[in-house]
Amino acid sequence: KALKLIVTGGAGYVGSVCAARLLEAGHEVVVVDDLSTGHADAVPDGARFVEGDAADATAGLLAEGFDGVLHFAATSLVGESMQDPGKYWRGNVFTAIRLLDAMREHGTPRLVFSSTAATYGEPERSPIPETAPTMPTNTYGASKLAIDHAITSYARAHGLAAMSLRYFNVAGAYGRYGERHTVETHLIPLVLQVATGHREQIQIFGDDYPTEDGTAIRDYIHVSDLADAHLLALQHAERGVHRIYNLGNGTGFSVRQVIEACREVTGHAIPAAVAPRREGDPAILVAASDRAREELGWKPERTDLYGIVADAWRFTQERAQA
Ligand code: UDP
Repeated sequence: KALKLIVTGGAGYVGSVCAARLLEAGHEVVVVDDLSTGHADAVPDGARFVEGDAADATAGLLAEGFDGVLHFAATSLVGESMQDPGKYWRGNVFTAIRLLDAMREHGTPRLVFSSTAATYGEPERSPIPETAPTMPTNTYGASKLAIDHAITSYARAHGLAAMSLRYFNVAGAYGRYGERHTVETHLIPLVLQVATGHREQIQIFGDDYPTEDGTAIRDYIHVSDLADAHLLALQHAERGVHRIYNLGNGTGFSVRQVIEACREVTGHAIPAAVAPRREGDPAILVAASDRAREELGWKPERTDLYGIVADAWRFTQERAQA
């Protein structure tokens, strides 16, 4: 059944890919984005676009009657969240509470929320299941965890059908939608900037981790697989219940392995230099995504690291030509 949906943050990386996939699946999409980090030209064709605050603008729309909200809009820089925590408590948590109140007021039945692996902090074991303790090591993760808790209580008290999806390392691109942050901090796009000549070299943040090659291991998930999970989550959401799912490939790759994949895909030498560890970076973050596979029937299709990097590279080159 076609649903009428609001996608906050639909001008951003993950939000634009998900909005595009929702439209392809026949749903009606209104994108709400304040363009603080998103790009107006990333809003998918076929979506109505309302520029504004994720809570205020959405609240203004909800009276029209919507089947659900997918809430992607957020600030998500770990370092910044430690320097300026208020931006994260106000911008992420307070905005989400106001959004929940607006949804309650208008009887909007479904919510899919972008949570994060950063809610777990330094894991006790790997891969990380949803039952692992949540002890975030940074304000960004703490803000997302606080929202998860708020959603749980709103779902119970007010009958909201809610899903939180905890992303691991999202990467790759989908069609004309990809990663184009003004302040780029993510490994794969930074490595590709070396290949395009926009950066001299890539810094490896720490090579003394207790891993095989000494560099940190992450679980890279293709943004299109991530989008699939959002569509499934919408279908499986149940009134009064808040479910939480990890989304990752279940396989980890080290920083060195990622750089090597980028060298192979781009044909560029990509000089790398070892630098100190980045504060708060755990050694290994890999998802156990069995719950999403079993309960949502989710199956990531693009798990190959080279394929993920190749899609990101194609997107980077197309952007350079545009
Ligand atoms: N990383 C790195 N050099 C960089 C950027 C990132 O070595 O210029 C490392 C980072 O320390 C982490 C991994 O690459 O171990 C992935 O970092 P990213 O910021 O992409 O995602 P995160 O895991 O922090 O969400």
